[in-house]
Amino acid sequence: YHPDTKTISYTTLSRFPPVTLLAPSERKRILVTGGAGFVGSHLVDRLMLLGHEVTVLDNFFTGSKTTVSHWVGHPNFELIRHDVVEPFMIECDQIYHLACPASPPHYQFNAVKTIKTSFMGTLNMLGLAKRTKARFLITSTSEVYGDPEVHPQTEEYWGHVNPIGLRACYDEGKRVAETLTYGFQRQDGVDVRVARIFNTYGPRMNPFDGRVVSNFVVSALKGEDMTVYGDGKQTRSFQYIHDLIDGLIALMNSDESRPVNIGNGDEFTIGDFAHLVREIVEKVQDEDGVKRTRQVQIVHEPMPSDDPQRRRPDTSRAKETLQWQPRWTVRMGLEEMVRYYKAKMEEGNL
Ligand code: NAD
Ligand code: UDP
Repeated sequence: YHPDTKTISYTTLSRFPPVTLLAPSERKRILVTGGAGFVGSHLVDRLMLLGHEVTVLDNFFTGSKTTVSHWVGHPNFELIRHDVVEPFMIECDQIYHLACPASPPHYQFNAVKTIKTSFMGTLNMLGLAKRTKARFLITSTSEVYGDPEVHPQTEEYWGHVNPIGLRACYDEGKRVAETLTYGFQRQDGVDVRVARIFNTYGPRMNPFDGRVVSNFVVSALKGEDMTVYGDGKQTRSFQYIHDLIDGLIALMNSDESRPVNIGNGDEFTIGDFAHLVREIVEKVQDEDGVKRTRQVQIVHEPMPSDDPQRRRPDTSRAKETLQWQPRWTVRMGLEEMVRYYKAKMEEGNL
């Protein structure tokens, strides 16, 4: 099904998940920056299974080769270590530009590098899209709305961001990346898509990256206290990874070039969310006959600065223009996540 496979035996291909056989005219050459990260690796899986040719660019800052290692050696797949702040040349039809650390501890670790990644990385990838005439999709974020004064957040809202705070390297980085994206659209006719992603969780999330879902699940599984920052009244709305991937692919292949929120409208206070995670971890442990010596406690620590107080997406635009809406409830997704980390723990990898 691929000209190169003439030299590759069936035995070689059979060690990979089965990919769809696409006619050459339907098969796209797709570049995924940040493809070794949490979201990127799930996107790569889906694009590979759909039968496309996928090239991953990643500097492995927060991602890891192991997230995509199951595709290494497949004739449709290529993994390249590259930092997007440096230009890169390749022929391609679509670019999913994800490269950027996403969890607060990681993006604050080197704030200047985060801003460089967002600005120069996006500039380089837009330049590539312009030269190759590839369609360009950027994974922006609900953080462009900052600590929002409008609730739920629609795409029309311009946001409320502290430009000099600890989160600014990420928030302002993504805002300028969006500005660049629409600059290239207006000036150079680049075909662009902008996904504003709300909090997403699922398997392959780095268990130590400091985000709330991984922190809570890992602590509860290990029988350690779960730490809620502040009084726990701040809210977030959590989306399961498979819904996000559906949304990203639908957006890329749609005619919608305005920003589109992709998220789940199920809003929780972080305090309530801690209780829900603990309940689901206990349920899974009970089903598996795991004995607990005590109940995990929920403790409090000071709130980090500029932590948004409320967040929930208005996803009407995604529903109308992409016919997309989330299908995974938080309970369903959390149970998958708990089982994933539990298996890692049992293998001694957590
Ligand atoms: P992640 O940290 O798991 O993945 C980011 C990937 O980008 C990693 O593989 C990392 O090594 C790579 N990377 C970082 N800087 C790079 C650079 N300079 N050059 C090349 N590669 C680089 O994070 P994620 O959760 O998978 O997020 C992916 C994208 O989605 C990011 O753009 C993020 O801003 C966006 N997003 C994610 C969420 C979420 O909840 N997961 C929410 C909003 C937006
Ligand atoms: N949070 C928490 N305990 C943790 C990690 C995070 O209470 O162990 C809080 C954090 O202060 C924020 C919310 O959970 O209010 C979501 O945090 P996360 O870092 O996952 O995402 P973001 O703040 O970027 O939405």
